[in-house]
Amino acid sequence: MKQFIVKPKTKVKLSEWDPNDTGDFKGGKKEGLAQVEKLNGRLETLQELLFAEHRHKVLIVLQAMDTGGKDGTIRRVFDGVNPAGVRVVSFKAPTAEELDHDFLWRVHKGVPGRGEMVIFNRSHYEDVLVVRVHNLVPPEVWSKRYDQINEFERMLAENGTTILKFFLHIDLDEQKERLQARLDDPTKRWKFRLGDLSERQRWSEYMQAYEDMLNKTSTEYAPWYIVPASRKWFRDLVISSVLVDTLEGLEMKYPEPEENLDRVVIE
Ligand code: ADP
Repeated sequence: MKQFIVKPKTKVKLSEWDPNDTGDFKGGKKEGLAQVEKLNGRLETLQELLFAEHRHKVLIVLQAMDTGGKDGTIRRVFDGVNPAGVRVVSFKAPTAEELDHDFLWRVHKGVPGRGEMVIFNRSHYEDVLVVRVHNLVPPEVWSKRYDQINEFERMLAENGTTILKFFLHIDLDEQKERLQARLDDPTKRWKFRLGDLSERQRWSEYMQAYEDMLNKTSTEYAPWYIVPASRKWFRDLVISSVLVDTLEGLEMKYPEPEENLDRVVIE
């Protein structure tokens, strides 16, 4: 899955990244889903190990355009993982109190502690995306945030946080289909907001903001992955694989049990 990583300081052009790509994966949907299921079982074990070892902290950042699949990713990739060790933090438009602070204030409160896995459903990156596209702060403010984010993430990494960032990449046509599906399905209509349509009209401005984000904030210690997300099964396969590979790379161990447990007799 290395092909989907954004190498630090490279220039990404999202129009050159195919949202339908399935990379080197030779199988189809059936094989893909079977692999996701296998990886999911592995993830369950690794998460328990993370919790038991109580050393590493894992932060997963999900960013996408509307209908990009953040919710579906959380549902499927983390299916069956013990909810006690995983936390989802969703970032909405900031409250008045949050706006009175620096943009990372509310973010820092949400980061994982030892043994914990946290998923950011949207994140501090909104502060260089929606905030930029809607001119919520002047350019001299948002333009400084890329460096500020890099420094913040460096600090987290140096303090034991493994950071993985996923941009779920779909195109305008796919979004149209997914919005239409929401309109047509009475059980999905609640998700449809008229505001999504005006955001959709700003698609190219958003892509520009996403490209800058990917170019400026993919680092060795907190890499971005551009996940082809039109095929949901492949999206889940990429994210599960990266997650499992990364967690395996941490070489975690169960804590040493107390001594002389072999002699214990429970009466
Ligand atoms: P989601 O689309 O993630 O399922 P919502 O429909 O509640 O959830 O959308 C959350 C909204 O909050 C989005 O429109 C997003 O742009 C907005 N938001 C998040 N962070 C910020 C921010 N820092 N400044 C302004 N708006 C933000």
